[in-house]
Amino acid sequence: MLNLQVGIRHAVGKLAAKPMRALQRADFDPAEKFSTRFPPAGSKLTPPHQSSEFRWKDYCPMVFRHMMELFAVSPADYMLAICGDDALRGLSSPGKSGSFFYLTQDERFMIKTVKKSEVKLLIRMLPSYYKHVRRYKSSLITRFYGVHSVKPNGGQKVRFIVMGNLFCAEHRIHRRYDLKGSSYGRKSDKYGEDTDGETTLKDLDLNFVFRMKQSRHKQFHEQLRRDCAFLESEGIMDYSLLVGVHFRDDIPGSKVGLSTLTTSDLSANMASTCQGSVSMPKPCLSAKDLEKMPYNRKPLARLGTRLPARAERRMSSSKTNSFISSSGGSENRVEAYDVLLYFGVIDILRDYDISKKLEHAYKSLQADPGSISAVDPRLYSQRFRDFMSRVFVKEG
Ligand code: ATP
Repeated sequence: MLNLQVGIRHAVGKLAAKPMRALQRADFDPAEKFSTRFPPAGSKLTPPHQSSEFRWKDYCPMVFRHMMELFAVSPADYMLAICGDDALRGLSSPGKSGSFFYLTQDERFMIKTVKKSEVKLLIRMLPSYYKHVRRYKSSLITRFYGVHSVKPNGGQKVRFIVMGNLFCAEHRIHRRYDLKGSSYGRKSDKYGEDTDGETTLKDLDLNFVFRMKQSRHKQFHEQLRRDCAFLESEGIMDYSLLVGVHFRDDIPGSKVGLSTLTTSDLSANMASTCQGSVSMPKPCLSAKDLEKMPYNRKPLARLGTRLPARAERRMSSSKTNSFISSSGGSENRVEAYDVLLYFGVIDILRDYDISKKLEHAYKSLQADPGSISAVDPRLYSQRFRDFMSRVFVKEG
C-alpha cells in the first residue's frame, strides 16, 4: 500500500508537470509503459521512502491523464485522495476472484488488484473504451483512472487498477446488489432481511422491481444497450450491474413506518411516484456544495447516480424471495418504497477465453447451461439486458 502511494504520487506529479497535449495513437500502444526504480534512500528522480526497494510501472499514463480530465477529476484531488495520510482503507475482499480492494478515505476511488490478463485486456481495449466513454457521457461502465504495477525487489509483481467508486454517494446505501442475469450460484451466503448494506447481494436475493419515470427508463435501457454492445464487441462477459439502493423513508426489515400497500393502492399511487418531490434525506450535496467542488467543475451528470425510483416487493404467499425465480402466480400484496438508485457496470475485464469456455462446459454438467454465468459474450449481453428489463421497469 505504501509503495502504491509513493508510486502514484510520483506518477501523477510527473504527468501533471507536463503540458497537456492531444492524445496520439502511440499513447495507447501496449508498449507505452514507464518503469521507475524506487530505492529507499531516494534517487535523482524519486523521493526517499520507508519501504524496501521496488520497481513501479505506469501503463499508458497519457491516456489516463485524459480520462481524468474527461471524468472531471483533477490530478491534485486524485493524488490527495490516494496519497494522503491514512488515505486507503482495505476492504475485506468482496469478490470471488481473490482480488484485494482498497477504498480512498473520501470514498471516491477504489483500487483493485488484478491479474496480468486483466491488465492486458484493459490496455488492448483502451482505444475503444476511451472512444466509448467520450462519446457516451452517461455510460454506465466503470470509470478507470490508472493502471500500475509494483514489484518489490525479489518479490512478486502486483498489478492494480484505480477506478471510480460507484457508491461514493451523498446517501447511505442500504442494500447493494451485484446482478449478472444468471442464476447458478447467484445467491449470497449472508442474505437476510437485516443486511447492513455492506453485504453484496446477488441475483437470487433480489426481490424488488424498480419502477422509474418513462424518460429515465428509456435513457437507462438505451445506455445499457450501448454499453452491452460495446462489451460484446470486445468479447467481454461476466460483468455485473452493481446496484446500490438508498431507501428514502422506510427501510425494509426495519419495523418503523413500513409502508405496505395492496396491489390496487399501488397503481393508484404510481402516478405520484418518482417526481423527486420527496424531501431529500441528509446529508445531501446542495447546489451550493456542488458549486464549491474542487477543480471548479461539477461532476458530470451521471446516469447511475441518485436516480429516483419506486422499489416494489411482491409478497407472495409462497414467501418466494427471489425475483428471478418468482413465477408470478400467487402474489397478493406489494410493498413499495421510494428509493434512490446508484448503479454501474463493473468487472468488465474478462473475455470468453479458454478457461471461461471450460468453466461453461464443466458447470453445464451440473446445471442448465443457460443459468451459468460463463457463456459467450453475445448470449451474456442478451441475457443480462433481458434480466435488467424485468428488474428496471417503467411507471404505470
Ligand atoms: P467476482 O470474481 O466475484 O465477480 P471480483 O473479485 O472480480 O468478483 P468485482 O466483481 O470487480 O470483483 O467486485 C466485487 C465487489 O466489489 C462488487 O460486487 C462490489 O461490491 C464491489 N465493487 C467492485 N467494483 C466497484 C466499484 N467500482 N464501485 C463500488 N463497488 C465496487
